[in-house]
Amino acid sequence: MSSGRFQALKGMKDVMPPDIYIWQSVEKKAREVFSSFGFGEIRPPIVEATGVFTRSIGEDTDIVEKEMYTFEDKGGRSITLRPEGTAPVVRCYVENHLFNIPSPQKFYYAGPMFRYERPQSGRLRQFYQIGAECFGSPHPETDAEMLSMLGRFLAGVGLPNLRFQVNSIGCEKCRPAFKEALLSFFAGRLDDLCTDCRRRYHQNPLRILDCKVEGCREVRKGAPRVIDHLCEECRAHFERLLHLIEKLGISYTVNPEMVRGLDYYTRTTFEVTSENLGAQNAVAAGGRYDRLVKEFGGPETPAVGFAVGMERIVELLKMAVREDLPRPAAFIAVIGEKAGTEGVLIADSLRQDGYRTELGDGSASLKSQMRKADRLAAEYVFIIGDDELRAGELKWKRLSDATEGAVPASGVRDFLRNVSRSQAEEH
Ligand code: ATP
Ligand code: MG
Repeated sequence: MSSGRFQALKGMKDVMPPDIYIWQSVEKKAREVFSSFGFGEIRPPIVEATGVFTRSIGEDTDIVEKEMYTFEDKGGRSITLRPEGTAPVVRCYVENHLFNIPSPQKFYYAGPMFRYERPQSGRLRQFYQIGAECFGSPHPETDAEMLSMLGRFLAGVGLPNLRFQVNSIGCEKCRPAFKEALLSFFAGRLDDLCTDCRRRYHQNPLRILDCKVEGCREVRKGAPRVIDHLCEECRAHFERLLHLIEKLGISYTVNPEMVRGLDYYTRTTFEVTSENLGAQNAVAAGGRYDRLVKEFGGPETPAVGFAVGMERIVELLKMAVREDLPRPAAFIAVIGEKAGTEGVLIADSLRQDGYRTELGDGSASLKSQMRKADRLAAEYVFIIGDDELRAGELKWKRLSDATEGAVPASGVRDFLRNVSRSQAEEH
């Protein structure tokens, strides 16, 4: 269905009421939970020099190879709409010498990301992420805190049936032996890999483990697992993390196959999935990236972070909590101009008290105003007509069960206050 002269670009969506209310409540919960863990908001630009991403995410990854919105600006510089949030935050951290402030430094961000992907359900070209990054602690306790914070946030917005998958992909010390093992495993199977993976074999064999091509998935069955090639320290780090999240009551599975689609990760990686989302089922993902700050020219600084996909969360919440959308507490139906004036005043006083209030159109019939109140799912309708004006009383009607009665024109605020008090007592 398309009408009008313009449409939003493919894979880009308008967010508007009623969905926006879910977005806003998710964002509010994120701020609340993240602040309680000592994280402060950071807002880097959404465009960066292309190198910020190619150098960190890695040349052989899907994101850099195929998905980036890269342009030349009028000054001939190569710039890119950010495909993810970690690299810009690291760039900001190093550029502003934030490493001079006592660590750990903890930040969160929320905003749009851009990837030129094939649009489908749960996969857009402009999508939103909320993410968090913690700089300066190498300890598994910090990884556990991040997982706990993510879990608290997701549970706080009311998401059902979530599962944490965790893995460790080691450090530069365990990498060489693992690379060797991969090379010898794939050596006799090169012909069955896609062309990308054949190139990856020489440049970055770890990336073969993240290839989405069906044939490559098949070929890599039985491939060596990073987790079996961890050095002493990485193994201890991972075991301590598992012990801690066990204690924290986070339900998880170890998924030795998960390597994540970005090159900068070291040690811990994780994803949160929901059974309810089908093929695109990761709602959040993250991991440790102990080398990235140094690669950006800063001092050696271990770090760990995650990003949450807003659209996928909102999708899940829509399945779970449709009825939680904000509804007007009051709809004021008015008949004629004089009643209209009274309606404006009453609505104004209700809104002052924080009641979400809608006002009917006095030139429309009562019937059509009632239909509108119904469509908005207002809790109470107050009706003002000539009779009511004369009597100084309004008629009220509760839409859920069609109970009705009368209330003095000056007592509408008290009336709503009383019903919300008695509702609170019932719960
Ligand atoms: P996937 O495996 O689904 O492609 P990814 O590994 O590319 O995800 P990350 O870069 O880790 O994703 O981003 C973290 C989260 O952001 C994902 O778990 C998902 O919820 C969301 N996300 C990623 N790409 C998209 C997209 N194109 N549209 C909507 N949400 C996305
Ligand atoms: Mg992806």
